[in-house]
Amino acid sequence: MSDFDYDLFVIGGGSGGVRAARIAATHGAKVGIAEEYRYGGTCVIRGCVPKKLFVYASKFSEEFEDAEGFGWTVGERSFSWEKLVTAKDQEITRLEGIYRRNLERSDVELHDSRAVVEGPNSIRLLATGQTVTAKYILIAVGASPNVDADLPGGEHVITSNEAFHMTDLPEKIVVTGGGYIAVEFAGIFNGLGVETTLLYRGEEILRGFDLDMRKAVHEEMEKKGIRVVCGDVFTAIEKDASGLLTGKTKNGETLTAGQIMFAIGRSPHTSDLGLEKAGVELDRIGAIKVDDQSQTSVPSIYAVGDVTNRANLTPVAIREGHAFADTVFGNKPWTVDHSLIPTAVFSQPEMGTVGLTEEQALEKTPNLDIYKSSFRPMKHTLSGRDEKMLMKLIVDADTDKVLGVHILGPDAGELAQVLGITLAMGATKADFDRTIAVHPTAAEELVTMREPTERLRG
Ligand SMILES: Cc1cc2nc3c(=O)[nH]c(=O)nc-3n(C[C@H](O)[C@H](O)[C@H](O)COP(=O)(O)OP(=O)(O)OC[C@H]3O[C@@H](n4cnc5c(N)ncnc54)[C@H](O)[C@@H]3O)c2cc1C
Repeated sequence: MSDFDYDLFVIGGGSGGVRAARIAATHGAKVGIAEEYRYGGTCVIRGCVPKKLFVYASKFSEEFEDAEGFGWTVGERSFSWEKLVTAKDQEITRLEGIYRRNLERSDVELHDSRAVVEGPNSIRLLATGQTVTAKYILIAVGASPNVDADLPGGEHVITSNEAFHMTDLPEKIVVTGGGYIAVEFAGIFNGLGVETTLLYRGEEILRGFDLDMRKAVHEEMEKKGIRVVCGDVFTAIEKDASGLLTGKTKNGETLTAGQIMFAIGRSPHTSDLGLEKAGVELDRIGAIKVDDQSQTSVPSIYAVGDVTNRANLTPVAIREGHAFADTVFGNKPWTVDHSLIPTAVFSQPEMGTVGLTEEQALEKTPNLDIYKSSFRPMKHTLSGRDEKMLMKLIVDADTDKVLGVHILGPDAGELAQVLGITLAMGATKADFDRTIAVHPTAAEELVTMREPTERLRG
């Protein structure tokens, strides 16, 4: 029996923490976990899952319109935000229950409490004031949405946390930010009939993604009626007696809306966690510094997920938690490869991507063949909708290796998952070429693009 209360104590019951706790327990470790809000964490409670449910809800408005081109007459439509939020909440509660039960079944001890680090091997549970000890501590506390603390009237805005629980849907909304969360919520609100403006300080939305795709998402959003304003920010926001918000911008615009949502990035949740006291080193933005085994500057303390700000996605947090538990408790050391992460943006239309952007590929090699195809998906020949699908392949011209694939269009996220396997296997353009097409699909375009649209040579 160890001298500690636990072999492992996990702070944070989200994607990374829950996976690490369960895997460590299956390796025979005595594990405790503390969660200050709801088990499942950001992804399940106020991130990926409720967001995707809202995306589904918002797409019906176009589906009803498109149906007419296929002979349907769709009757009177109405939408209840209240019903959607209630249904979403029921589903989230069900999922939270599954998370709790899975932990309990794995013999992990659950503490419904905020926890703070007291030292390299001790943790204080604020709900009871109890101090517990552990041979290892895993910090998996995630991140929280940024707000602009210096913005006059900044207290009137909401973040994604509140967007999931608004009592009413406003007639107009301004979403501020240009990352995937801002873009996704702009699509959600627009699809639900809210007059939507996206206000972003940078030159083009979706920084970090391939530039052609960023421009295409921007264009498609505007076609759907979203006003996308780049290069501008709020300088002040006021709220009148009726609750209406008026925001002034740097470029002199006045925007009124029932709600203003800020999605301007997320910061690691490390304040008041006792980390400095324990000697855990943080970086400039407060993320925990870790090595590739997720070990911090204190050998008994590890950290995974968004709090380490490596790649802030659920599957990455899960992987990091799993690798940590296998390495420390399962005698099966492995590390997570962060270099090839397939991912999706649930914009409308959706974007799926894996591998390098053209800009990143050019930093590695000047010799690239770019294959691009933009076309109207078959569905929209009859629906009449003016929506384009875009596919882009980035190929190393010297080795024929496919370095990146980017797709904008229906089910692009699903395609990115499968393409992720091919790129992880080192697929070449010749591999794509010898693959027989599936007809009639949009994806067949991926294996039928014969000639490069651009040959870049350094
Ligand atoms: C709106 C939105 C949409 C998203 N969509 C996607 C998506 O489509 N796909 C995707 O892959 N990712 C998405 N993400 C990102 C994803 O949610 C995160 O990357 C993921 O949840 C990170 O997991 P984690 O374990 O690091 O932290 P989290 O899941 O955030 O879990 C951390 C947990 O720790 C708890 N906690 C914090 N401090 C303490 C403390 N001191 N004591 C006890 N408990 C504490 C928190 O309450 C929380 O439950 C989205 C995020 C948001 C906000």
